Amino acid sequence: MQPWRMPSRDEYYMGIAVAVREKANCLGSRVGAVIVRDNRVISTGYNGVPEGMQNCLDGGCHRCSNTAIYKSGEAYDLCICVHAEQNALITAARFGIAVFGATLYTTMKPCFNCAKEILQAGIVQVCYLHEWRPGDDRKRAEHEKIIAAIKLIRKIDYPDPRPEWIRAISLPQTGDGAEVPM
Ligand SMILES: [Zn+2]
Ligand SMILES: [Zn+2]
Repeated sequence: MQPWRMPSRDEYYMGIAVAVREKANCLGSRVGAVIVRDNRVISTGYNGVPEGMQNCLDGGCHRCSNTAIYKSGEAYDLCICVHAEQNALITAARFGIAVFGATLYTTMKPCFNCAKEILQAGIVQVCYLHEWRPGDDRKRAEHEKIIAAIKLIRKIDYPDPRPEWIRAISLPQTGDGAEVPM
């Protein structure tokens, strides 16, 4: 057994995001997210279909079930899976919890849509575990633009107990980032 050591705040919150991810239900990468404000967890989210619908792992999402047709970062308008960061924001909205000025921990760098929503919700800091970027050059430039608008974004070092859930590993690396079917 490993000797106990007080975790840093980053380790603590990323550890919670990793635990939240255990419930993720998606054929793509599995992701967990935690929103922290004034050093308190105020919301969590993992990716999967909306409440009451057939789970993605059971074939509920046509887009996720057909990765041969729909490329990485594409056809999100056809994807019924809600991303972890979106679910964390939506859960806060559902229960009337303000996220303005908060920090979001996520096990994967936010995609285009999530980055927009994070920005517009007034999240000021994003801490992520794994890289993500769109495969397409044009999309990549726009993604980088929206990511750059987030006040503070940091990559956190944390041992991932389930690296197999990051689909990037099975895909060719593009430049300094990874292409992930999410
Ligand atoms: Zn899915
Ligand atoms: Zn996303």
